[in-house]
Amino acid sequence: MQKQGLYVHIPFCRSRCSYCGFVSCTDICAAEKYVGSLVSEMRERAGGEADTVYIGGGTPSVLPRGLLTKIVGALRENFAISENAEITAEANPDSCDSEFLHEARECGINRLSLGVQTLNDCLLARIGRRHNAEQAYRAVRSAQKAGITNIGCDLMLALPEQTEKDVVYAVDTLASWGVKHISAYSLSVEKETALYNSGYAPDEDRAADMYEAAYGRLKAHGFERYEVSNFCKAGHQSRHNLKYWRLEPYAGLGAAAHSYNGTVRSRNTSNISEYISGRRGEVCEQTSMSEKLEEYIMLGLRTKYGVEFSKLNALFGGDWLKAKAREISELCEGGYIRRSERGITLTEKAYFVMNSVILRLI
Ligand code: SF4
Repeated sequence: MQKQGLYVHIPFCRSRCSYCGFVSCTDICAAEKYVGSLVSEMRERAGGEADTVYIGGGTPSVLPRGLLTKIVGALRENFAISENAEITAEANPDSCDSEFLHEARECGINRLSLGVQTLNDCLLARIGRRHNAEQAYRAVRSAQKAGITNIGCDLMLALPEQTEKDVVYAVDTLASWGVKHISAYSLSVEKETALYNSGYAPDEDRAADMYEAAYGRLKAHGFERYEVSNFCKAGHQSRHNLKYWRLEPYAGLGAAAHSYNGTVRSRNTSNISEYISGRRGEVCEQTSMSEKLEEYIMLGLRTKYGVEFSKLNALFGGDWLKAKAREISELCEGGYIRRSERGITLTEKAYFVMNSVILRLI
């Protein structure tokens, strides 16, 4: 049986960033009770093997000391976690201190995902982040010193007043610090947030130029693009995120966490107080075969692995290839996709018009 991924949501942050639409709150005093509810959920849903664990948020590094250990301990008690499992914790530079790193290391965290976003202090302040570039540097160095060397950093593109020069500087600097993974996403401004209310809307062309600038530098530093927004040094893909993109099963624990067992998607309540009081408010949704096929094609083509014929046949039979034969041949001739014995992948040219290429195939 396929091993699953486990996602644990920690919905606590020290303050709200001006663009954020994630489920999180600043009432860190509630963390202990929240972790109690998390452990109860783990007991209810116990069973199965997992080879990736991702503790995200919110900001897991703001948890009062001891709670991360309790979470990982309860995961190990309730699920069979593989010996070589990838166990990631997200952290923000202002709370990624030596105490957090020591606890993370001791409880088996072997990968860190750090919310750097940019290394321009003015931009960081503009989007309401609490840290500065110096703290990001110290967080990376402290993690490496603590023995967590598999470090990924998030960067944001199309921030207000951000330039391509800022993006290039951030990529060059993170590469010089020895991080293994960089995610570069365009800023998405959620409704009802401070940035949204200020009237700021990211410009798609500017975002595309910044993406190109980032990609050029990442390539020069030896990072491989293995998903449209994710780049890594050899062997440092996020194994957990690959499960999402390959439609593999995962269980999400905590408020607002999503799960997928191969046919049914479910999500817990986004109301943190409700979750703490023991009401999970789970909503389930059966995915039809055609929805699943669309998702597989859409997500698969965004990765370097593309759409794999063996998986396509096993899950959906050979109908898609027959139904899309004309589109596949036209896109191949146009130089947008490559067809091999293994499957179909996008070419470099297609990255500029990715959405329209994918739309032709679904
Ligand atoms: S740290 Fe992340 S989750 Fe928390 S407010 Fe900022 S963007 Fe949202």
